[in-house]
Amino acid sequence: MEKIAIAIDGPASSGKSTVAKLLAKDFHFIYVDTGAMYRAVTYLAIQHNVPFDRETALVQLIKKYPISFEQTANGQLVFVNNQNVTEEIRQSDVTSAVSEVSAHGKVREQLVHIQQELGSAGGVVMDGRDIGTTVLPNAEVKIFLVASVEERAQRRYKENLSKGMTTDFDSLKEAIAHRDYLDSHRTVSPLVQAEDAVKIDTTGMSIDQVVAKIQEVILEKGFEIT
Ligand code: C5P
Repeated sequence: MEKIAIAIDGPASSGKSTVAKLLAKDFHFIYVDTGAMYRAVTYLAIQHNVPFDRETALVQLIKKYPISFEQTANGQLVFVNNQNVTEEIRQSDVTSAVSEVSAHGKVREQLVHIQQELGSAGGVVMDGRDIGTTVLPNAEVKIFLVASVEERAQRRYKENLSKGMTTDFDSLKEAIAHRDYLDSHRTVSPLVQAEDAVKIDTTGMSIDQVVAKIQEVILEKGFEIT
């Protein structure tokens, strides 16, 4: 498989990371979860009592506590300053604050720089909100995944249940819609479909169907899947 870059963007819980991981595994590409980076900064802010509106202090946290990933048989691990925070960054205190942290231009500048370095050699599947528009504007394949809020909340609800967590469905739905709103209305790099991205509505589709659809797009663009 040619070492292309595949950008996958879309709103919260649209299935980006699940399909991105599968594609990366199939193609032996690296997978970069950019949401995990914004979550790691938010986690650091909580740990160090840095208010979410203090842009300069947030940037200092990124510089002081480097974010890194490790691919293992059990999935991707996320570290800050060599501390494994894979579980912590998925907790609700992080999720509810991450959109405020990610709205700062200087925070984005730092992380986009790291993301571009990770993607520079190609052979990458990167997911997020601004990959096709800002991080990898020259990505060979750009996908924009969407699904109804109802379905996304249902997927998250089931995922939580499988982890033994019961959540209130309506609150979950509201939180997803709120995060979508904040991510789509911020001034810097808002969540928006790149002009040359292919939009896939995954409502009612299985993960395998979404992966197959993306593979179709890759083939249509003239890349061979080997
Ligand atoms: O994808 P995930 O839900 O983990 O992303 C968490 C948050 O990180 C998003 O709601 C958004 O605020 C931010 N984000 C971003 N740009 C990206 C990826 C994530 O602003 N490329």
